[in-house]
Amino acid sequence: MFVSENLSVNKENHLVIGKNDTVELAKKYGTPLYVMDEDLIRKNCRVYKEAIDKYYGGNGLVLYANKAFCSVYTCRLAAEEGLGADVVSGGELYTAIKAGFPMDKVYFHGNNKTADELEMAVANRVGHIVVDNIYELELLDAIAEKHGIVQKIMFRIKPGVDAHTHSFIRTGQIDSKFGVALENGEAFEIYEKAHRMPNVDPDGLHCHIGSQIFDVEPFCEAAQIMMDFAGDLKDKLGLEIKKLNLGGGYGIMYTEKDDPVPYDEYIKHVSEVVKSTAAKRGIDIPSILMEPGRSIVASAGITLYTVGGIKDIKGVRKYVSVDGGMGDNPRYIMYQSEYAAVIANKAGAPASDKVTVAGKCCESGDLLLKDAMLQEAEAGDILAVLATGAYNYSMASNYNRIPRPAVVAVKDGVPKVIVKRETYEDIIMNDMM
Ligand SMILES: *Cc1c(COP(=O)(O)O)cnc(C)c1O
Repeated sequence: MFVSENLSVNKENHLVIGKNDTVELAKKYGTPLYVMDEDLIRKNCRVYKEAIDKYYGGNGLVLYANKAFCSVYTCRLAAEEGLGADVVSGGELYTAIKAGFPMDKVYFHGNNKTADELEMAVANRVGHIVVDNIYELELLDAIAEKHGIVQKIMFRIKPGVDAHTHSFIRTGQIDSKFGVALENGEAFEIYEKAHRMPNVDPDGLHCHIGSQIFDVEPFCEAAQIMMDFAGDLKDKLGLEIKKLNLGGGYGIMYTEKDDPVPYDEYIKHVSEVVKSTAAKRGIDIPSILMEPGRSIVASAGITLYTVGGIKDIKGVRKYVSVDGGMGDNPRYIMYQSEYAAVIANKAGAPASDKVTVAGKCCESGDLLLKDAMLQEAEAGDILAVLATGAYNYSMASNYNRIPRPAVVAVKDGVPKVIVKRETYEDIIMNDMM
């Protein structure tokens, strides 16, 4: 009935997440409110871990891509589940450090890490730095020398696979700000250079072909290309690739239109390609890394809002306004993303009314849902937007000086605030008085 498996309706006709009545959560913590189901996050982590055990004999590591939802809480949760972490900025790295995350399991990404960020990563002994370009390589080599260490690195490679929702093409990807390309020899040259450098150890390869991907083929294609490149590096440079990081990007169900492949399936097919290419090229099967973000947290999260004014413009459109919007969920205004929603206090009623749900920001594009079917809304109702666990809180802003919502995690029916609601004091915190 709902896009996420952890949602149900109780006898009061209220939406339930995990074992918690969402109407009660809204009453207790206020709205807008992000709610994350910890049990489902953990379950999602285990799907990937079990797939690595099953298809790679445990020779690999799942890295949680923090950019989907980064907090001290999620870092601790990922650590408890035995995952590594993908971080993309000094701020995400700082969060992982403060959460006590094991630094040897951290992979630091980004296409333009600053000298300060690289310094911070090296000083804190981050396990791997995923280097983007020559400039960064030279900068890092000097920083590692200063610290007297040999920094393990891998480069972000553009495998030339462009993943789209339902098809893929092998062109165009060279035109990307991320990483180094294979087809013009750039990737080979950078490995050759790094191989000779004294303070870095290029022991792995990395690629990430996109996000919200529903096809298996682009992942298989990328794995094949990367393994062939590993073969080339061994043949031509004698360089052994010990780690293959295949990135994230596994699609999730936002609405009924989405039809994701079970994650276990992707990994099974990719593992066949990795193994057969390793055999063909006479190289060892590297340790496999994958970096799911969205598929770990998206379905575990919902956002609760209170309905305010309703504007039924006859013959035009019916607008239902809520007390949040693009500040807590900028995905509609950025990508016209589609979501499913339900009136949480009437969750069992038929969705018979076609409405457009608007946020409260001063932008006409500040919508959460356009022309969606909902239960008949009234002021004071609680609206739940589903599958908001990824790229909502992490992309939130204070536009219009609206404080960011709190985040509540529910585990085994027990709610706990994991990020507190911002106050107006927080909003002016850095203003000089
Ligand atoms: C965004 C990103 C991920 C996570 O992608 P999802 O679609 O959230 O799984 C993983 N690795 C890298 C390098 C990324 O940029």
